Amino acid sequence: MKIAGFYDESISNGEGWRAVLFVSGCPHHCPGCHNQEAQDFNYGKEFNEQEILDKIKENSILKGITISGGEPLCKENINEVHKFIQDVKAIRPNFNVWCYSGYTLDELLSRNDEATNKCLKDIDILVDGEFIQDKKDPTLKFRGSSNQRILDVKNSLKAHQFIEYKI
Ligand code: SF4
Repeated sequence: MKIAGFYDESISNGEGWRAVLFVSGCPHHCPGCHNQEAQDFNYGKEFNEQEILDKIKENSILKGITISGGEPLCKENINEVHKFIQDVKAIRPNFNVWCYSGYTLDELLSRNDEATNKCLKDIDILVDGEFIQDKKDPTLKFRGSSNQRILDVKNSLKAHQFIEYKI
């Protein structure tokens, strides 16, 4: 997997101080995509997990990790993304995990495959759905267009319904 970038501190990609990993590669090709170059699976540099874990370990201000992209949950990226989430949790068990995906939670659940189901269990908050230019709204917090939802994944899975996370 290649990555398009890494922020070791951010407050605009989820709630609280967070590290943010932007993976490369996205099959959605949304018109008006904010990060077009990251749609290419060969964009950026090779993912060096240890280097990023070391940066996270050094930073005591961080409250969580956000995985964005690109598309973290496409078949090409999901296994490495899930391993990374687990390795982050191993060094920072109290971290909350946010993930941005162009897939809706409904679409991810309907895949009904082990890799996706396991990964979803380790994600706290999913910002889901493609970016839709006609629904773009710069006043929205942590999302680009109004179709996208900020979902509490754990409670949604438990309750078998989509529960939005209140910011
Ligand atoms: S899902 Fe996100 S990264 Fe992928 S094309 Fe759409 S806006 Fe761009």
